[in-house]
Order: sequence, then structure tokens, then C-alpha cells
Amino acid sequence: MSNPSLLILAGDGIGPEVMGQVQRIIGWYGDKRGLNFDVSEDLVGGAAYDAHGTPLHDDTMAKAQEVDAVLLGAVGGPAYDDLDFSVKPERGLLRLRKEMDLYSNLRPAQCFDALADFSSLKTELVAGLDIMIVRELTSGVYFGEPRGIFEVGNERVGINTQRYTEAEIERGARSAFELAMRRNKKLCSMEKANVMESGILWREVVTEVSKDYPEVELSHMYADNGAMQLVRAPKQFDVIYTDNLFGDILSDCAAMLTGSLGMLPSASLGAPMENGRPKALYEPVHGSAPDITGQGKANPSACILSFAMALRYSFDQGAEADRLEAAVEKVLADGVRTADLMQANDGTPVNTKEMGDAILSALDASL
Ligand code: NAD
Repeated sequence: MSNPSLLILAGDGIGPEVMGQVQRIIGWYGDKRGLNFDVSEDLVGGAAYDAHGTPLHDDTMAKAQEVDAVLLGAVGGPAYDDLDFSVKPERGLLRLRKEMDLYSNLRPAQCFDALADFSSLKTELVAGLDIMIVRELTSGVYFGEPRGIFEVGNERVGINTQRYTEAEIERGARSAFELAMRRNKKLCSMEKANVMESGILWREVVTEVSKDYPEVELSHMYADNGAMQLVRAPKQFDVIYTDNLFGDILSDCAAMLTGSLGMLPSASLGAPMENGRPKALYEPVHGSAPDITGQGKANPSACILSFAMALRYSFDQGAEADRLEAAVEKVLADGVRTADLMQANDGTPVNTKEMGDAILSALDASL
């Protein structure tokens, strides 16, 4: 049987720096676990614009459609800020998400014990926190028509439309329920059914889908209450399923409960391919961090943890994903810190490569 395939799009800024450490981890899995991937690399974002005049070449798009998973670093940077909207680096990422039809965005908010002090919340509220927000990614108010700024009478009116079909709500719900089945069998669906018809439909469809998952305990919450509960008592949640707009806000809020942007992975999944694997794009939540690019300061953990998500959700290697996450946790527990994870008087930070070294040593020690 051929090896699973992985397309690496390191992108811009610190993207290539953090991806360099992921490449070493991928190499480790080949050498030490006999887990080999057919890895190909290509350009995205500003790097693709510089080479081809477009933030995502058609050939790269075609490759992304064929591989088992895409792993992306970050896109963007000040050099591209003045480009026309149609060729901005972010358009490359948006094209990938759209054409791969990645409708289910998984954003974990996991608090490593060693970093509990970094949260803006009290340590006891976040220590051991492990929740997953599933955000519907391809529909809702960011895509609904009509949209635009229109002249109405003697003034302008800005319009966006929240629109969800049953099928869109259902496919995302199924991926959230499947996830809940792999975790603690607890799902909270968030909308605003009290004031939005789309929310009423959302609640009805999710309730209907829940009949296929009788083991999962389903609850519903208005999204504004959900925001309050996330900062009041986040550990009450396990999997949260919500729409594109609410998910955008709630997932950022939940993620920051855990401290640093340098620790946050994500996955965007679509429909299953012929081989049963979902279309998938894995990427850290952070951007290209131009302020620290080229200085060896970038924390590679978010990108490495994104690869751990790929092991779990694309390659059915849950135990190896656990191993990698445990290695990151061990390194943090040992006090190894990149600069973003340090507070005043915390000692000397390690650089990007040294963080990679430490994680590789922890992987070795796990054998
Ligand atoms: P950013 O995430 O790049 O940086 C925000 C802050 O967090 C910076 O101070 C940065 O140094 C720090 N940071 C981020 N990742 C880090 C890491 N791994 N290790 C240590 N510190 C880290 O967000 P920004 O500054 O708002 O945006 C910079 C560029 O990135 C912009 O061009 C933006 O459009 C782009 N961006 C891209 C993505 C993406 O590729 N998915 C996401 C967000 C922003």
C-alpha cells in the first residue's frame, strides 16, 4: 500500500521556520515509528505571489485536492499589504478552504498545565481545560446573498445575510457528533434561536441529527450565553458546534483562555474522499508574525500540534497523535519555553530549533 500523502505549504514569515520543525518531526515518525508519508512542498500566499503572481497557483490547488492532507504554515506580511484584494496572500488560503469545501473547522482550546498561569482566567478555571469548537466554515453570514453596500434613498446601507440550508447545518453537525463520539460524548450546540430564524432551523436540524447519535448528550445554548459561560466556567464544555460567525468569535475567545497564540493548532475538514479520509487542511491559528520573522523566536508548537491533529483525523494514528501531544506537554512541564511563553524573570528562552530539539528528545524518551 502506498504511503499517505501530505502537501506542505509553509507560506510566509515564520511559516517556513515553524514548518522546518514539523518536517523534523515527520522525519522522526518515518525513522522511529515506520510511519512514512509522501511529502511534497509548494508555495502559498506571498511566496506564491512572488513566484507566480497569484497567491495560489492552479497546479498547487490541484495537488491540494489530490493529497490526503494539506499542512499550511502561515500567509501574509507587510510586503503584500498594498496588493490588490484579489491577489492578497490570504486569498490563497481562502481559495484552498473554498475549493476543498472544508466546512468543518476544528479549533481545540486545550490548556497545558504548565501554561495555566498564562490564561487571563484564574488557574483553577483553566487547568486541565480541553474543549473543541466545531465552527461551520463555508456558509452563513460571511457568504450569504444579498451582500454589499447599497444606496437606499439618500443614504448607504450595508447588508450581509445569514443563510443556512438544512444540508449545510447537517453535515457540520455530523462531523461535530462524530468528534463527540471520539471524545467525551457531550455536545453543546450554540445559536440564537431566540432572535434568528436561521438559529431555529439550526436547533431543529442538530436535534434531528442527534437521533443518529443516541450516546451523545446534546445541549443547546444561545451563543451570547455561550460566550459568558466560556469565560465563567469553560470546563463545563467538551465539543461545541456553532455557525461561521459565532464560531469565529467563540473559538478565538476559547483559544485565548489557554494563553499563547504560539500553542494553538486547527483543522479544517470536508467531505470524505474515496479512501474514506476527509478532505483536510491543518494549520496553526497564528499568522506570519512579521515582527519576529527571521529571528528564531517563533514557537513551532502550534504547527507541530496541527500535525498531531493530522495524525489523528486524517491518518487514523490517534495513539501517535497522543504521543506527540504528550511530548509537547512534557517539554513545557520541563520548563522549556520559547519567548512567547515567558513572563518577566522567567530565565532564557529557547529558539525555534531548540524547541524542536526538545520535542524530538521527548519523543525519543517516549519509546
Ligand atoms: P500574528 O498571529 O502573525 O501575530 C500576532 C502576535 O503573536 C505577534 O506579536 C507575533 O509575534 C505573535 N506570534 C504569532 N505566532 C507566534 C509563534 N508561533 N511564536 C511566537 N509568537 C507568535 O497576527 P498579525 O500580527 O495580526 O498578522 C501578521 C500577518 O499574518 C498579517 O499579514 C495577517 O494577515 C497574517 N495572518 C495570517 C493568518 C494565517 O495564515 N492563517 C492568520 C492570521 C494573520
